[in-house]
Amino acid sequence: MQGSWIDLRSDTVTWPTVEMRAAMAAAAVGDDVYGDDPTVLKLEQAAARRLGKEAALFVASGTMGNQLALLCQVNRGDEVILSERCHIVQHEAGAAAFLSGAQLRCLPTRNGHLDLDQVEQTIRHHPEDLHSPRSALICIENADSDGYVLDLEYQRELSQLAKHHQVPVHLDGARLFNAAAVCGHPADVLASCADTVQICLSKGLCAPVGSVLVGTKPVIDLARRRRKILGGGMRQVGVLAAAGLLALDQMSDRLGEDHRLARQLEAALDERKAYAEVISGSRINMVFCRFPSCSPDALVGALSAAGIRINPPDDHVFRFVTHHGTDENDLQRFLDVLDRFFL
Ligand SMILES: *Cc1c(COP(=O)(O)O)cnc(C)c1O
Repeated sequence: MQGSWIDLRSDTVTWPTVEMRAAMAAAAVGDDVYGDDPTVLKLEQAAARRLGKEAALFVASGTMGNQLALLCQVNRGDEVILSERCHIVQHEAGAAAFLSGAQLRCLPTRNGHLDLDQVEQTIRHHPEDLHSPRSALICIENADSDGYVLDLEYQRELSQLAKHHQVPVHLDGARLFNAAAVCGHPADVLASCADTVQICLSKGLCAPVGSVLVGTKPVIDLARRRRKILGGGMRQVGVLAAAGLLALDQMSDRLGEDHRLARQLEAALDERKAYAEVISGSRINMVFCRFPSCSPDALVGALSAAGIRINPPDDHVFRFVTHHGTDENDLQRFLDVLDRFFL
């Protein structure tokens, strides 16, 4: 529980923990644009080690991490192959076109998975042809924003296919530690299937701000330059990195608890067939559900009046997200309000 609200809109609403606040207050800082903020350097080293990559860059947001991955691996007019539902396509305000001048080759997914044969067919095989764009990058998301998790075998197959065609892979791992908790492989093993990886510290991991982009040293060195171009060179940013270190060290192993609560909420909604239609498939801290008979505005309003925040539905589907600030009592209160509203 945080504040007096029960907030099921997202895991981005999590507050920094008491330990994070203390670490932020005590953080050793420098000027990170000069490269001498010790806490940022520590976070970047820790993230690179944790994800099994050569180098890391602390960035302001997941969007900045993803866009830097494109800016450093894609030339104007090059193609990026990715899911039509992914964050880069749907939720980054058209940044790939605006910043990199990338041509996005959007493919459909089934249960969060791109069809690998279709990916292979989509790769351009004649880059020397004057007419042909160059396939510069394949992007995947694990876990994805629909709650699906890609298992290790699938990621390995995709990685081999991409290597065979010499196309690098970017993994949008905004919720990579959620995926790791579900599939039982450590994050670095999942990350080994990609050339660059972006992880969010500010979602389920509870840091107030920030993401990390990891990859080879040349790519990360270039990303540092390009981050400056985006206005993302920050100064005494050790105060934020201090929280990020605790996010990595202390919060990544507790995500199974959020998943357990989400499955519990899913089961409770599934018992309420009179008004709720659960959409199964999510394996992380998200529950998806339709309420066929309801006016979304009225429901959002009734919940808000009871101190519970939810987002309006997307294409009639509501998403409820569990996180460090929700517990079983909160979910019971939520279910009680739903019962009163519908029954
Ligand atoms: C949240 C999210 C991002 C971007 O994070 P911001 O910090 O909000 O910019 C990128 N990809 C996925 C899959 C996400 O869920």
